[in-house]
Amino acid sequence: MSGPLLSLVDVSRSFPTGTTLALDEVSLDISEGEFVAIVGQSGAGKSTLLNVLGLLDSPTSGQYLINGENPKALSDSERDRLRAVTFGFVFQDSFILPQESVARNVALPLRMEGVERLNQISMVELALDEFVLLEKANQSAGTLSGGERQRVAFARAIVGKPLVLLADEPTGNLDSANSRRVMDHLGRLHRHGVTVIVITHSDEVAAAAERQIRVSDGRIVADSLSVSSSSNSRRSSQKRTFSIAPQEDSAWRGTGKGRTWHAAEALTALLLSPIRSMTILLAFIVAVAGLVSAVNLTATAASQVSSKLSAAALDQVVVHFESPEELQLGADRVRSLEGVVAVASDLQIEPSDADLGRNVGSQSFDLPSRVRVVDPAFLALNEIVVGPSNAPGLFAAEDGSPTALLGPDVAAELGLDTSRVGEIIRVNEQDVVVVGYIESSIRDVTLARGVLLSQADFILPESGTWQLLVRTEPGLPAKIAEALPLTIDPVHPEDVRIETVADLRELTAGVNGDLAVNVFVISSVLLLLVCLTSSISMFLTVLARTREIALRRAVGASKADVRTLFLMEGAILGLAGGVAGCSVGIVATSAVCLALGWAPTFDPAGALAAVAASLFAGSVSAIVPARRAAGIEAALALRAN
Ligand code: ADP
Repeated sequence: MSGPLLSLVDVSRSFPTGTTLALDEVSLDISEGEFVAIVGQSGAGKSTLLNVLGLLDSPTSGQYLINGENPKALSDSERDRLRAVTFGFVFQDSFILPQESVARNVALPLRMEGVERLNQISMVELALDEFVLLEKANQSAGTLSGGERQRVAFARAIVGKPLVLLADEPTGNLDSANSRRVMDHLGRLHRHGVTVIVITHSDEVAAAAERQIRVSDGRIVADSLSVSSSSNSRRSSQKRTFSIAPQEDSAWRGTGKGRTWHAAEALTALLLSPIRSMTILLAFIVAVAGLVSAVNLTATAASQVSSKLSAAALDQVVVHFESPEELQLGADRVRSLEGVVAVASDLQIEPSDADLGRNVGSQSFDLPSRVRVVDPAFLALNEIVVGPSNAPGLFAAEDGSPTALLGPDVAAELGLDTSRVGEIIRVNEQDVVVVGYIESSIRDVTLARGVLLSQADFILPESGTWQLLVRTEPGLPAKIAEALPLTIDPVHPEDVRIETVADLRELTAGVNGDLAVNVFVISSVLLLLVCLTSSISMFLTVLARTREIALRRAVGASKADVRTLFLMEGAILGLAGGVAGCSVGIVATSAVCLALGWAPTFDPAGALAAVAASLFAGSVSAIVPARRAAGIEAALALRAN
């Protein structure tokens, strides 16, 4: 005759914080097919005994054998699997997952085992039918009554066809009608050959069992088996085969849980808490969208500047002078040079010397802005469009008072209406009449923030940058740049400072490089912040989901499964946030470019890198929460309190 199904030999369990033993050298044999009630006062050790029997807890000393084999010899995941195939649990609190449907709640153990979907459906149907829940299969479990929830808990406990049903005060929260139903369920399961072990305070439930075990102070103080005949408890209406070797399980059992399984579980968990998921997702979207638009706008602006510079490189040279007089002299000489189409002087006055402002009554606007004193040729040479149409004429007129053309940004900051001319502004303590506004300047986009003063009648400050713009025939700048020093200063040609746009192009490349570094640093900080936020958020979620996680563990999920679940959740959020953020970034870049009339430049490598960074950030932010989730003690978390 085979030995007992479950056998405890001198099992003790102590807790670091407890002063007495929760279990004190308990020895107990339970045979297959028995119906056992464990009774005793609160704190006697009943739940601890049940947890040890159900492999949710381990003895501190002594030996526990299941069908003669020691689960201690198994690895963690083998023990998790053994628990799943041997035991079904029903707790006082039914521990349903309220957002999920009744059917999904019942299917949880099968899902945790990786049972094939078709098998899941038929098995769940059977279990629902057994507990009269078929009609409620698709109802959200949170809407059920207490009695119905407990029936769901029963269906969930038996859906995986466990050998042993462990029930911890299953009638504790129920009225007498529902308690009677629970007793009926227990009796029926027992008659089907399931070994039933139930903790109860109810005399009725205890009386319904074949065998009563009384626990007090961690010890078994009475066992009805020892007074009655043992033969009646050894019956087994349906003989079962049993082995702890997983590969010998029935054919329907799961064949393992791959990455797809974990991803599907993680996705479901995310979809079931849409608000929480959206909050974290939004953080990733904002960060990645910011990153992608910053990268793309930098690239667009860079190509914008480069194309202007490339155009200028074909026909422009700039010569620097020490004073306005030298510039005037130089201009006359350069103008006569072959290949030179036009020249224009450009005196750039630093903001500190320009002292730009406007007085309106007692109010005064001051604007630290660079002012450029130019000759009328400058407008044509730089393809500057100004309005109103008579503005160029007024700008060129020499009638005794200096005139100005303002860029739209400067006008706005000085509180000027661009549809009105004739306003007076102040430059270096001189009154200047605004005769028009710059509408566009293709060659020099900085002029939107610039002020152009007519050379005539303006008393120049002592310091500034005096330069001559030389427009050449296309393709000649290099040649002319070579000839210019001797033309301008035959005695000291080496003193002449020439700048071709090629130099500027190097400069922009440098500036773009710096910009890219800045964007990268800002984006990284942003991503780091998102990482931190989502990590904290996921950590809080783990705390809120402690019981759900414990339940998953009780019905067969291994620590690794739980860890992978959370890592997957993080990775999915990171990836989804990355892809969505990338799309938002591209749309934002396009919108900005459309508004500015630029041709957008997209950097596919940058977008890919942003998605990858987001995926990485999502996974990294889940590491600590995942570890915390995997460390949850099912026995502790599932205690009714
Ligand atoms: P019962 O189920 O009979 O009410 P328990 O098995 O819950 O009793 O508890 C038995 C004893 O072990 C109690 O004194 C309880 O405080 C203690 N105990 C149970 N679990 C823990 C734990 N995780 N940490 C510390 N003490 C515990």
